[in-house]
Amino acid sequence: MASDANSASGARELVDMRDASSSVVDLPLDARAAGPVDAVYDAIVIGFGLAGASAALEAAEQGLKILLIDRFQGGGASQMSGGIVYAGGGTHVQKSCGVEDSPAAMADYLRKEVGGLVSDEAVQRFCDDSLETLGFLERHGVNFSGPKAPKKTSHPTDQYYLYFSDNGTVPAYMGQHAPAERGHRTKNPAKVPGAPPLPGKKPHGGFSEGADMGWYLMAAIKQAVAKNPLITVLPQARARRLIVENGVVVGVQVDAIPQGGLSSRVHRWAERLANKLTFQVMQVHRPFAALFRSIEKLSSRPRTFRARHGVVIAAGGYIRNRAMMARYAAPYVRTLPIGSFGDDGAGIRLGASAGGVGDHLDRISAWRFINPPYDWTKGVVIGASGDRLTNEEQYGAHLSRAIYEQSDGRAWLVVDDAIWRAALQEVNSGDLFEFQKFPVKQAQKGAKKAGSIAELAGKIGVPAEAMEAAIRAYGDAARSGAPDPMGKSDACRQAFGPGPYYAINLRHEMPISPITALSTGGLRVDEHSGGVLDERGQTVPGLYAAGRSAIGIPSNNYVSGLSLADCTWSGRRAASAIVKRSRADGRGEGRDSALSPGAAAEAG
Ligand SMILES: Cc1cc2nc3c(=O)[nH]c(=O)nc-3n(C[C@H](O)[C@H](O)[C@H](O)COP(=O)(O)OP(=O)(O)OC[C@H]3O[C@@H](n4cnc5c(N)ncnc54)[C@H](O)[C@@H]3O)c2cc1C
Repeated sequence: MASDANSASGARELVDMRDASSSVVDLPLDARAAGPVDAVYDAIVIGFGLAGASAALEAAEQGLKILLIDRFQGGGASQMSGGIVYAGGGTHVQKSCGVEDSPAAMADYLRKEVGGLVSDEAVQRFCDDSLETLGFLERHGVNFSGPKAPKKTSHPTDQYYLYFSDNGTVPAYMGQHAPAERGHRTKNPAKVPGAPPLPGKKPHGGFSEGADMGWYLMAAIKQAVAKNPLITVLPQARARRLIVENGVVVGVQVDAIPQGGLSSRVHRWAERLANKLTFQVMQVHRPFAALFRSIEKLSSRPRTFRARHGVVIAAGGYIRNRAMMARYAAPYVRTLPIGSFGDDGAGIRLGASAGGVGDHLDRISAWRFINPPYDWTKGVVIGASGDRLTNEEQYGAHLSRAIYEQSDGRAWLVVDDAIWRAALQEVNSGDLFEFQKFPVKQAQKGAKKAGSIAELAGKIGVPAEAMEAAIRAYGDAARSGAPDPMGKSDACRQAFGPGPYYAINLRHEMPISPITALSTGGLRVDEHSGGVLDERGQTVPGLYAAGRSAIGIPSNNYVSGLSLADCTWSGRRAASAIVKRSRADGRGEGRDSALSPGAAAEAG
């Protein structure tokens, strides 16, 4: 369901839609009223996550002079991610692991996830470009290799780097091609013979070691950006409004914290700490977030930058903007937002300020993963009505969608004694990351136990008849070999044997077991250029969007790796369009009329 941010009035409403902690976005300013310009670049990129960095690198490698700004130090959600990149079509990693794949097979699968939100043609292009997308990351220092994981999981253990990160093995998603492992997990360079070490200190280790892969990815990309003489990075600069001239976006006004002083140092420290506090489960990040926000308020100074050929919005999503969430994605408002503190919708609201339209802002990827342990996929997920909700072997975000959109946020995984014991064995095997074991152990501790399904239904407060019927239907089909009522594959189903039976609570529970979420809707863009579209479907001249500020391949359904792959692809797409435009404009000519004398010296 598309949200009504698609209308002009919706777009205007969007600009101001924020809670007390979200960034202010102002309406665009005419270049003549914007005052002196600090510097002129060929293009300006707002947001130094993977989408912004990919745009900056691509444009700079094609000869453009780029200003890359970020509200913080760069990295964004990309740096916090699991570093999984969805790639296929026969990558060298797939080949080395004996996985057969083709762009046609990849597109055939992805079209089912994309559901028409992005055209079939664009999906095919994304798949045709997949080898090059992975190659781009590798050329900039990111490491990928095998081996592949022996079975499907939401996140492989540390021995494995290629896996089924999607729904490819789920019967409803299978087509004429065999499923192929496409989740490429970034590798720690210390484990790659001959790979140079990365600068900086990784944020986690220990409990969250598996979560450091995004840091490895972005550390390599940041290093590539730092080495490129055509890219100027301006950290601690928050884009506040766009500058327009004759209907064309020609620049950005930012609130920038002067570099090198005490306020800059404290802002950096406070943001780093707020992020580090393990996804804010206990809300202990709050004083640090309040600190960096007040520094932004008190110490920032306005600066104005001009772009000759285009401005790219790559400022992430809106999961931290409670007002946007309440307005567009109300069922998910209690989920735990993950992502950077920059995910407050500022990018999408900036786009809307210039006439762009937000699209599918109700699409949220919420994550309740029940695999690992693998055997849990053989259980039955029951909602508040006592009915079975969905196919349990699906990707965790698809499961959570059913929990929020088909139930009321309440759901239980029901298993018999045999499944319960098999799962315990996997958790105790020592193979899983600590951050994977912890929620499973907590869920096991809190599970309800009963001698019969009817008694169990009473304990969790759902109608017994409905729950008994659901489990009977599941078991009957599994025993007889008839298709599973929810389309589950044979490998993941198992008729229940004797009790006791257990109900594992899947609902959102702070702080023990939150369901985490990120946003996937964004600005509507032209699929060839990444140009931001207005409500008539016309591009807003000079304005582009990429990554989670834009509608992209993962906007309808996210599966692991699809966002980072799309960030790279869409960032480069915007850059290529700007390069093309610069050639048409004549590089270094044209719209520099508002330059102050000082800025003329800085202009490239
Ligand atoms: C824990 C976690 C694990 C994940 N794992 C994966 C995974 O393995 N694979 C995958 O594909 N996806 C994963 N994701 C999702 C993925 O990380 C994000 O969707 C993706 O990184 C978004 O990239 P981006 O470049 O669009 O935005 P970001 O990386 O968030 O970058 C946006 C940048 O814009 C800056 N910014 C915001 N507002 C402004 C402003 N007004 N002015 C200037 N700068 C601004 C921010 O500070 C930020 O640095 C994960 C996400 C999380 C949180």
